Amino acid sequence: MSDITEKREGEFFEDVLKYFNRAAKFVNISEGLLEQIKYCNSVYRMRFPVKVGDDYQVVEAYRVEHSHHRLPTKGGIRFSTAVNQDEVMALAALMTYKCAIVDVPFGGAKGGIKVSPRKTSPEAMEKITRRYTSELIKKNFIGPGIDVPAPDYGSGEREMAWIADTYATFYPNELNALACVTGKPISSGGIRGRREATGLGVYYGVREALSVESDCQKWGLSTGISGKTFIIQGFGNVGFHSAKFIHEGGGKIIAIAEWDGAVYNANGIDPLALEAHRQKTGSITNFPGAENFDKYKALEIECDVLVPAALENQINKENVHNIRCKIIAEAANGPVTPEAEEVLIKKGVYIIPDIYLNAGGVTVSYFEWLKNLSHVRFGRLGKRYDEAAGKNMISMVEEMTGKSASDVQKSLIERGADEQDLVYSGLEETMISAYHDIRTEFVGNPEIPDLRTAAFVVAIKKIATSYNTLGVFP
Ligand code: GLU
Repeated sequence: MSDITEKREGEFFEDVLKYFNRAAKFVNISEGLLEQIKYCNSVYRMRFPVKVGDDYQVVEAYRVEHSHHRLPTKGGIRFSTAVNQDEVMALAALMTYKCAIVDVPFGGAKGGIKVSPRKTSPEAMEKITRRYTSELIKKNFIGPGIDVPAPDYGSGEREMAWIADTYATFYPNELNALACVTGKPISSGGIRGRREATGLGVYYGVREALSVESDCQKWGLSTGISGKTFIIQGFGNVGFHSAKFIHEGGGKIIAIAEWDGAVYNANGIDPLALEAHRQKTGSITNFPGAENFDKYKALEIECDVLVPAALENQINKENVHNIRCKIIAEAANGPVTPEAEEVLIKKGVYIIPDIYLNAGGVTVSYFEWLKNLSHVRFGRLGKRYDEAAGKNMISMVEEMTGKSASDVQKSLIERGADEQDLVYSGLEETMISAYHDIRTEFVGNPEIPDLRTAAFVVAIKKIATSYNTLGVFP
């Protein structure tokens, strides 16, 4: 799990409102409806006691449902000592726009628990997570058709399994109980591909941006990920998997920054080897063959693509003038402040916005939710049938041509898709088509200043349409 110390400035929810208001100028939607869309519908702030050792620890926590235009609402739960109401509200709002952009039929939500997972024992973590779940149940803030949490910064499969188990204990007759949360371990109803989904989505998104020749020319780059230099900030679930897929796609990762330091190697870092080193030593620093680097200064190294994959406010008015990249790929939520963005846009830096780029997580969460509701693993019905059809096709072609197919040709055609294949291909299709939706909006209107604004425009239009369909605003 990543834990880059934040440099805060301004209010996060205010920043999201700024982005929203900028985009609202480009849509023809009534003031009332815009107001309904942009503010948070429900904010639940709680405090509950948990017995740790001989004493009680009082825990502050939140769940915010930003928009109910589609149900359930959806979004992760952040476990961090920096959690506050403003942050959870902003993250919930971003979830609404994210879901709309990738056509995932959910409203946006987010949770936060003010606790440090690194400093809390697994026993206390379990008590806190289960108690938080029962607080959500009490106020009807969780359920397969109500609000469905997921992992976020500081939480993962283990916490999601506790949530599912607590919910199922309260509702023993609920057939769809497992669909109350996503990001679960496979053994508790999770789906293959969810763990790496956000990072894989980041890879697909960056690859798509780098596939448009006319854009690459503008940035002074050749097309393709291969050979481009990358810097990754954050080596948690999102940063690690983004790095892994970018590296496998031929990208050269020259620096990786984490909460306790950064490493740099102009010839490239292998993320798998770095992870193995961290497993052994407890830190990414002192990685053989790489130089230790200041974790903030690492962002300022010259590169083609900078991938902030940690927390909000990382590129702000203090460091923006030192940023030397052509593209910023926002794997984290809100890593660039509006003030910094203004400077970057003037400098010609292309920002691939969070509400599109990190939507891979919620996309695969949607697949997991569907799997839980349908009670069947994707690929279970069709895999063998497709394999048999492939085998028949090969024998027919061999018979007709009198030639035999090679083993490689056979394995390509005979292979039926399993759950992971289907999840990857569903995610790839989602990220590619959503990229072109927002890019088309951007290039189609010269008044739209940047891709983030275009992404907000696309999202606002879709959300307004579903409100109109509901008949709330005829
Ligand atoms: N926490 C992730 C996000 O920020 C995933 C949310 C989900 O899967 O519901 O997008």
